[in-house]
Amino acid sequence: MEQHGADVIVVGAGVVGRSVAWALASGRPGLRVVLSGRQGAGASEAAGAMLGALGEVTEASLTRPHGRLRVEMALEAARRWPRWRDAVHGAAGAGAGPGGDGYATGTFVLLNAVSSPLDERSFAAIARAGRRYGVPVEEVEPAEVPAVRPLDNERPLRALHLPDEGFLDARRWLASLDAALDALPNVTRVPAAPLRTSGSGYVLEAPHRLVAAPAVVLAAGAWTGPLAEALDPDLMLMPVATAEGTAVSVAAPAPLPAVLRTPNRAYACGLHAVPQADGSWYLGATAAPALDPGDAPQLGGVRFLLDAALGQLHHGLTTARLHRLHHGNRPIGLDGHPLIGATSRPGLWVATGTHRDGLHASPLIAQELAGEILDGTPSRWLAPWRPERAPISDWTVQEAVAEAAAHHQALAAEARMRPPLTGAWPQALADAYQQQLADHYSRLPEGFVLPPELAPLAYEHATALAKSILDHLHRREFGR
Ligand SMILES: Cc1cc2nc3c(=O)[nH]c(=O)nc-3n(C[C@H](O)[C@H](O)[C@H](O)COP(=O)(O)OP(=O)(O)OC[C@H]3O[C@@H](n4cnc5c(N)ncnc54)[C@H](O)[C@@H]3O)c2cc1C
Repeated sequence: MEQHGADVIVVGAGVVGRSVAWALASGRPGLRVVLSGRQGAGASEAAGAMLGALGEVTEASLTRPHGRLRVEMALEAARRWPRWRDAVHGAAGAGAGPGGDGYATGTFVLLNAVSSPLDERSFAAIARAGRRYGVPVEEVEPAEVPAVRPLDNERPLRALHLPDEGFLDARRWLASLDAALDALPNVTRVPAAPLRTSGSGYVLEAPHRLVAAPAVVLAAGAWTGPLAEALDPDLMLMPVATAEGTAVSVAAPAPLPAVLRTPNRAYACGLHAVPQADGSWYLGATAAPALDPGDAPQLGGVRFLLDAALGQLHHGLTTARLHRLHHGNRPIGLDGHPLIGATSRPGLWVATGTHRDGLHASPLIAQELAGEILDGTPSRWLAPWRPERAPISDWTVQEAVAEAAAHHQALAAEARMRPPLTGAWPQALADAYQQQLADHYSRLPEGFVLPPELAPLAYEHATALAKSILDHLHRREFGR
């Protein structure tokens, strides 16, 4: 079998893997980079994609230390996008295909009649974040928002305009990255293949050739955990979970010049419509936390998404033709944060866990990680997200329970659930959510606070979740 020497193998060709490979190979022309990928239920192919910095803000983003770090990273990524995009397009040339990547700016955040106090708090936090970080955020009359035609009882009551917030067509962007990578003589693409250690380095057993390299970047999204474990069972990697997401692209019921979205809510990224490069509307997205990636959308999610989009955004969508059903697994560290940087095993790097803004964060992650790999320059942006860190916990159990209960209520409100108006039913339901979540949280191992956005894991996958947490805590304390 042919032997192939490389300097870095990147495993996983989602937006993070492709961007890291591009940053490495374009940054150092002599470096031999091998990118190993496969088709599958990756997150990147399914993304909108909003390049959301302020649109993603919730109250917790501003009040929790790691929430603030994530907002500041998103703002830094937004600053880097224009030059990053120019460089990728410059290399891709005509290879990216006709039609462009759909990049533009402008986002409207809608606070509508099927929302909850959680949405109001996020709506206020977005305006506050604009003032704090000097980014334009303007309250506009809902009637001024273009392309919205909701049902009367689901209409927006308030709206914010974020004129600088970007968006693009994720699939076109991935094609641009492919063309830029193809144009580099020092990048080789190979299919997914078994990876193993060999002495102090790594070997990828690609079809018809063995690729040996001293360094590997695991950027396999929600599939990264088992790969790392197979390479070195002594690693203390934060477990990587998934938030499965479903979206659709449909024929446009009206021209859409900007992103329309609700605040993040109900464990998800808000309801949104993103203009695509071919003029269609991307409607997203559901979020179903799970411990292992899922390979196809669930009907309940599709139904909920369509119901929300038709009612809250545009009822003309009722007759729109479906172009494509998207499904992907957002990778997320079990403590709610990304895993990016070196591991304790020499030459082994990890870049995953970006949850719902990995496409947006990709230029920053790729440039900073490439700087660390090539020059040994520690990145202040990546420092908090070391893959083998102790679990980050910005929440007490009581706070996480209260926040998760607020997400439950938001979900019930969006589903237009109406309690019987007898006695104290509405408050009894709110109390019941809180009690149910408190019970589930109390059964989780001590020393780890499940972040509220992953709270459904505590009642849908309780046994496997507890095992994963216990394994991780045990490994941290006693080794394997
Ligand atoms: C519905 C949806 C909407 C989203 N919307 C947005 C948005 O608007 N804005 C935004 O910024 N982000 C958005 N996201 C989040 C974003 O998509 C992710 O944060 C990001 O794409 C993660 O990229 P990744 O490369 O780490 O993972 P992935 O894209 O999942 O890529 C990992 C790849 O590794 C492959 N792989 C697995 N095992 C192996 C192996 N052994 N060898 C080789 N390859 C392997 C997988 O098949 C996959 O292709 C959205 C996600 C979803 C699902």
